[in-house]
Amino acid sequence: MNMVLEVSGLTKQYDGFRAVDGLTFSLAEHTATALIGPNGSGKTTTLSMLAGLLRQSSGSIRFSGTGKDPRSAIGFLPQYPNFFPWMTATEYMELAAGLSGMGGRDVRSECEKTLGFVGLGDAGKKRIGGFSGGMKQRLGLAQAIIHRPALLLLDEPVSALDPAGRREVMEMLKELGESTTILYSTHILNDAEEMTDQLLFLRGGKLIEKGPLREVREKHGGSGYRVLFSGQEAAERFADAVPWAASADGSAVMISGETVTMEELLRFASEHPAGITDIGRTAVRLEEIFMKVVGKP
Ligand code: ADP
Repeated sequence: MNMVLEVSGLTKQYDGFRAVDGLTFSLAEHTATALIGPNGSGKTTTLSMLAGLLRQSSGSIRFSGTGKDPRSAIGFLPQYPNFFPWMTATEYMELAAGLSGMGGRDVRSECEKTLGFVGLGDAGKKRIGGFSGGMKQRLGLAQAIIHRPALLLLDEPVSALDPAGRREVMEMLKELGESTTILYSTHILNDAEEMTDQLLFLRGGKLIEKGPLREVREKHGGSGYRVLFSGQEAAERFADAVPWAASADGSAVMISGETVTMEELLRFASEHPAGITDIGRTAVRLEEIFMKVVGKP
C-alpha cells in the first residue's frame, strides 16, 4: 500500500503543556481517516501541523507525495476559514488557486468547475458577505480542493451544517475520496462511521486508539443489541432500568454486546416488556466505542 503521509512522534509543546503528544500514524493512498476526540484533545493542533501552519516541537511528518511543492500536494480546510466578505466566490477561489501555486490560463475554468462541484455554480459572482454558513463551508471545501491535492486535511468539515447540508458535504467527500487521501476531524460520529478506513482517537493530545473501524469495533465488543420500542418514553425507561451499559436513541435502546448475553437480555426484557416491539443484534456504533475510549463527547 502506498503511504501518502507518515507521522512519527508528532508533538506540540506549549509552556509546560503538551497539546499533541507523540502521535504516530500513517495514511495510505486514497483512504479516509477520521480524527476523533473531544474538544481540546488536539485535533486542530495536529491538523495545523500537518498543513504546515504550525511548527511541531518534535517528531517528524513525512509527506511522500510527489516531491512537489507541499502547497500543491496538500489541501486544507480550517475549522473557521477566514473569508473576505467583500470578495466574490470566484475572486476568492482565484486567490486560493494562486496561494496553492496554480497559475496559467485554466485557473478561471478550474475555479468555476470546483465551485460547480461543491454546489456553488450559481454563486460565483456573489459576494461572500451574503453567504449562509452552509455556503461558506462549501466555499471552504472548494478552496481546499482547487489544486487537486493528493492529501486533503479537513478540520470539522461538517460540524457547522444542518443534517441535509452534512449529508451533501459527506457525499462530496466520498466522491473526492476516490482520488484523494483524506484526513478529517469530527465529533459527529455518524459521519465518521460512514466514511472511514481508519480511525484515530485522540484524548489529551495522545492517540489512544487507532485502526480500521472493523478492528476497533471488534476490539471493543464487536456487536451489541438494539431493542426497539413503540415510543421514546418507553425506550428511555428501559435504558434507565437495564443493569448494563445502554443508551437510548429515539425509540431504540442500544446495549453493548460485551456486557450481556442474548439470553440475559431476553430474560430482562420479559420482565420489563413495556413498549418493546423488537429485539435484535447490531454492530457496535462508533459512539459507544467513543464513549468507552475517550469518555463522553
Ligand atoms: P481540538 O481541536 O481537539 O478541540 P486543539 O488542538 O484546538 O483541540 O487544542 C488542544 C489543546 O491545546 C487545548 O487544551 C488548547 O487549549 C491548547 N492550545 C491550543 N492552542 C494553544 C496555544 N497557542 N497555546 C497554548 N495552548 C494551546
